[in-house]
Amino acid sequence: MPSVTQTAQNGPVPYTQAQKQAIRLITDHQFRFGSSAVKINHQWVNAEHVRRGEVDAAVVLAHFANGQQANGHGTDAPKPSKKERPGSRDGLTPEQRHQLYNARLYRVQKEGEGWLIEHTEVPAQFTACRGDGHGELVVTSNTNGTYVTTSEGCHCPDFEKHHEERDCKHMAVRRAVEAFCAEQRAEKERREQASAIREFPPAVKVVSITDAPGGYVVTYQQFFPAGG
Ligand SMILES: [Zn+2]
Ligand SMILES: [Zn+2]
Repeated sequence: MPSVTQTAQNGPVPYTQAQKQAIRLITDHQFRFGSSAVKINHQWVNAEHVRRGEVDAAVVLAHFANGQQANGHGTDAPKPSKKERPGSRDGLTPEQRHQLYNARLYRVQKEGEGWLIEHTEVPAQFTACRGDGHGELVVTSNTNGTYVTTSEGCHCPDFEKHHEERDCKHMAVRRAVEAFCAEQRAEKERREQASAIREFPPAVKVVSITDAPGGYVVTYQQFFPAGG
């Protein structure tokens, strides 16, 4: 006698309502905070754990229903703890501070030999300059801490503690500066290409035109600017 379980196992196992809801909450958290995992009962939980049934969806729902995460930042209506209300060292709420870890939320401009990096959503400003070592970027943060970053990471305590789930603010700033420099390089290349084309317009010489079924075939020679 075929059972319901067997039928389900023949196709993809459908997620329960609770699983779908839990996955949605984790995904939403990821979208807003840039971290794909949520700390629940001292354990990092991501959407995949819920999909595979390794973590009970009810536990995730209960966690978000409490409105506060174990690692200190809230969900829709965060209630900052007293000691983290504005007036702390950086003047930011935990929710605002979390936005510092998102590299896409910075505006970068060149300033002298270095860069000035401003957050687009919360009041926080950083500066950065190249370090002595290869690939080093020295970042001075909104709280005046200065740390050396490399492509491997940052030397600050926050990075040590949290790098498996998110960037520290210095690394986020580093990525923002890297993106800015890459865009500058691309822009420079586009300008150089455009001016090369103006100086040496590409030339084409038609060699032959022959009839072919349904149309014709054009053979041509293309001349590129010298050096390009
Ligand atoms: Zn988080
Ligand atoms: Zn750091």
